[in-house]
Amino acid sequence: MSWKDGSRRPESAPVDKAQPLEAIPGIGGRPRGEWVLDQNGLLVGATHVLSPNFDDRPPGEAVTLVVIHSISLPPGEFGGDAIEKFFTNALDWGAHPYFEGLRGLRVSAHFLVRRDGAVVQFVPCEKRAWHAGQSSHGGRTRCNDYSVGIELEGAEEIEYTDSQYEALVSLIREIRRRYPIAEVVGHSDVSPGRKTDPGRSFDWIRLRSAL
Ligand SMILES: [Zn+2]
Repeated sequence: MSWKDGSRRPESAPVDKAQPLEAIPGIGGRPRGEWVLDQNGLLVGATHVLSPNFDDRPPGEAVTLVVIHSISLPPGEFGGDAIEKFFTNALDWGAHPYFEGLRGLRVSAHFLVRRDGAVVQFVPCEKRAWHAGQSSHGGRTRCNDYSVGIELEGAEEIEYTDSQYEALVSLIREIRRRYPIAEVVGHSDVSPGRKTDPGRSFDWIRLRSAL
């Protein structure tokens, strides 16, 4: 998702942050620190905040695309639990003027990568998360049907953190082990003219060279 409103509010109270997965020796022979998806497409060791905003993928649909997004609530403000609340339909619309514009939206993503690299999962990869909306890739519409959506906690004009790139690379590698991913794109690529995230501050060369 993408919001350009620059409104701010005082710093939120700190919340417990999920930690990146540490080694789980013996699972699939992965190197230490690498993520592992279980048979449902749940990331072992991540924080799971399951969203009701998902449904089944079309029968027989292969997962072939990763869509990268950015989000911060309110825009440009990091930390706090507003994203988790938004994706679980629990956001207090009255808590910030910006939130009023999100009232009634029912959306989600499979993953959120926090500024410190911690990963939160909202929807198992086997299910369809509601992240891309009206979208098209390679002539195929409805990208949610065949993609995994990853939100980076961020804003389009602010550099993403080293920890986020590291976590993102590790996460995409594991997704590619599990699914026949053909391409990794931005929301702006599949919804041009409508969405601009993850924005020009996202370093595609860095990501692609690391994958
Ligand atoms: Zn987006």
